[in-house]
Amino acid sequence: MKALSGGEIPDSLSDVIDGFVDQEFDPEYMIFNKKYLEPTILLTYNCNFDCPYCFQKDYRRKDVVQDKVIRGFINYIKRNSKGRKVRVSYFGGEPLLQLKKIEDISKEIDSSGLDYSFSVITNGSLLSPSVLDKLVSLGLTHVQITLDGPREVHDKRRFFVGGKGSFDLILDHLAYAQDKTNVVLRINVDYRNVDEIRELLSTLKERGIIRVRIDPHLVHENIFRNEYWDNLIAKENEGDILAKVWEIAREEGFQVPHEAFRLGICVAHVEDDIVVDPYGNVYPCWAFTGNPLYVKGTLNEDGTVKLNGKFSSKVAREVWKGKCDNCPFLPMCMGGCRFFSVLNRKGFDGVDCQKRSYEEIVKLIRYFV
Ligand code: SF4
Ligand code: SF4
Repeated sequence: MKALSGGEIPDSLSDVIDGFVDQEFDPEYMIFNKKYLEPTILLTYNCNFDCPYCFQKDYRRKDVVQDKVIRGFINYIKRNSKGRKVRVSYFGGEPLLQLKKIEDISKEIDSSGLDYSFSVITNGSLLSPSVLDKLVSLGLTHVQITLDGPREVHDKRRFFVGGKGSFDLILDHLAYAQDKTNVVLRINVDYRNVDEIRELLSTLKERGIIRVRIDPHLVHENIFRNEYWDNLIAKENEGDILAKVWEIAREEGFQVPHEAFRLGICVAHVEDDIVVDPYGNVYPCWAFTGNPLYVKGTLNEDGTVKLNGKFSSKVAREVWKGKCDNCPFLPMCMGGCRFFSVLNRKGFDGVDCQKRSYEEIVKLIRYFV
């Protein structure tokens, strides 16, 4: 641990460290030689939930992804896969409101001979066994579903339009999904639910839902949504709280995955991994979607992308230069999250330093040694 804090990686941990990032990191040129093309498409901004903290609340529309955007997305993949495997993320709103579009896109990419698979980021309400089976047959490998606490807590923040709670339905769907695909279980954590995480996990365990990967995220202040946010965990306590959640998860029988350490590197750093919305707008990452101020380009029907020169991946990759050069967490962090940098009013090219958090999180590495 002492060596790690000083920036050294002992040989005995090199396999673990390799697992943190599945890209090869080239420190000389600051590029990733990724083995996958990983684009994201938002099928709609519409949703059947009305979560008070939804960052897309102001952008909620009933529109569905345009056909020309789908054609552009498929052409983009054909142009840019360059021998790599293709792993698409379907995002929304609620992407499963547009199941048919997932089917159409999947069949088209598959028929072009590419090595294709996909993940879906969903609220879980529409992921019935028959829908899940269909998605698996089309190439689904991962699904991300959110639960924010035990029933009373979850149903107050993740409810259907009209107010009906979603906890029981999601649990039913999780119980089936965990044996059919890889399930990432996202938990949004703030002061109001942090003490309920153990109860949530023990309820899951009682239901036999243990083959899921826990993914706790701390809720952050958001300049795009100014309601609800009186429950935030103070920045200086973030690392302790996250480490505590992981400890609870472990005590309840859930694994701490390598991904627990991957806090900084994301699609914003990789120009090829576009994030495109139903209108063809391209964004630096999922968190900016819907916000017209953070569009970085447009996707054309022929699969080319017209970039406007703002919010480029190159800028995202280089924010650390001259500021973080000697930091032992640099390969994991790269100067932090672009979205959080914007939230903290440091701009897209600012440094979002989470060193305190890393110092706590990295102690979890003892579970891999
Ligand atoms: S399920 Fe997701 S997209 Fe839908 S309202 Fe909730 S946070 Fe927003
Ligand atoms: S932002 Fe902070 S934690 Fe990240 S690399 Fe720079 S100094 Fe290290």
